[in-house]
Amino acid sequence: MRCTFDHDHPPREVVAATWNDSEPLGARPYHCRKCREVTKARTVESNWETYATAAAAAAVGHKRPCAVCFPAAARAPAPTPDAGASPPA
Ligand SMILES: [Zn+2]
Ligand SMILES: [Zn+2]
Repeated sequence: MRCTFDHDHPPREVVAATWNDSEPLGARPYHCRKCREVTKARTVESNWETYATAAAAAAVGHKRPCAVCFPAAARAPAPTPDAGASPPA
């Protein structure tokens, strides 16, 4: 899975907030560690957990990818117009 920073996840890990005082309780999305939602000044590092894979994060309740750092994955899967296009003859 490619994030907006052009990493491949895995092998890059994902992170997710286990608790966030500033937002309502609920399942938090998982993020790339570089995501601005992770690096913003208000975040508390001890609230974040690191997971080796998105599947590992999903297994403990972080089922959604962040729409900021995983925009493609956050959208409903849909075929891209040129995914199956044949090269010009
Ligand atoms: Zn994010
Ligand atoms: Zn990344």
